[in-house]
Amino acid sequence: MYKTVDFCKYSSIRIGPKVDVKILQEPVSIPDDWVIIGGCNNILLPPNPPKLAMLSKDFDFITLKDDGLHVGAATKGGKLLSYAKKKNLSGFEILQKLPGTIGGMVKMNAGLKGWEIFENIKKVRTNKGWILKSQIEYGYRFAKIDGVIYEVVFEPKEEFDYKLLKDFEAMRLNQPQDPSCGSCFKNPPGKSAGELLQMYGFRGKRVGGMAFSQKHANFLVNLGGGTYEQAVYLINEAKKEVFSKSKILLEPEIRILKNIS
Ligand SMILES: Cc1cc2nc3c(=O)[nH]c(=O)nc-3n(C[C@H](O)[C@H](O)[C@H](O)COP(=O)(O)OP(=O)(O)OC[C@H]3O[C@@H](n4cnc5c(N)ncnc54)[C@H](O)[C@@H]3O)c2cc1C
Repeated sequence: MYKTVDFCKYSSIRIGPKVDVKILQEPVSIPDDWVIIGGCNNILLPPNPPKLAMLSKDFDFITLKDDGLHVGAATKGGKLLSYAKKKNLSGFEILQKLPGTIGGMVKMNAGLKGWEIFENIKKVRTNKGWILKSQIEYGYRFAKIDGVIYEVVFEPKEEFDYKLLKDFEAMRLNQPQDPSCGSCFKNPPGKSAGELLQMYGFRGKRVGGMAFSQKHANFLVNLGGGTYEQAVYLINEAKKEVFSKSKILLEPEIRILKNIS
């Protein structure tokens, strides 16, 4: 089964073609060169992307079982946050204003400041079987998980922390509202990518419809009609300039897909 998706509307950065995306049902079997899309909040799509697939609604569920809270990988973070509030569970406060699906968040080990989604995870089920957290190599914005994530089991702990929710809200006050993929680059060890970009003149730097935001230099924003080529140009320019001035190699946090020939 396929669905036509207009990535100019679906992706958070509002860039991408209108293409057919394969809707996956269990058991999933797709070639290695296909790309799994969650909410597309962290992916920059070229005009001619690789083959794309996304999980069906069968993977959108939240079920409390004896071994933990089972959450389908297609479930949106906001839905899990509402569930946690209702059931008075802690550990999900970070999901406030963190856009995406649980599958995408786990693959990226999404987080904010010192908190990351992996803290609360017990195990993950993929099309290759169950993997315990202790068997997964993960770190700052990555988790080495092969294949397609089906569901994630979290440790349900008591009491939803409204004070923490407010703290997370406050941390986002400097975040631009224009379409973006969130942070463009990962912070290099001991440094802030935003500060480096600002130091070397990239805050507000604009090419066509794309710019490093005036509000937060590490947000690559689409100010209207921005294109893949403009986004990639700015990313490459920033990497080149920061490296030549500081010898620090910025690594994109955004997953940049390449055109297929
Ligand atoms: C305004 C804004 C603010 C943001 N703030 C933050 C933040 O504070 N912290 C943070 O960490 N991120 C942040 N992000 C980035 C984004 O929210 C996260 O990366 C999130 O995890 C993306 O989830 P997604 O479902 O959209 O994944 P996608 O962008 O669709 O995919 C991300 C990666 O996960 C893979 N993937 C998706 N689903 C699956 C699956 N089922 N199985 C295997 N692989 C899969 C994709 O192939 C891709 O490599 C922000 C983005 C925006 C737009």
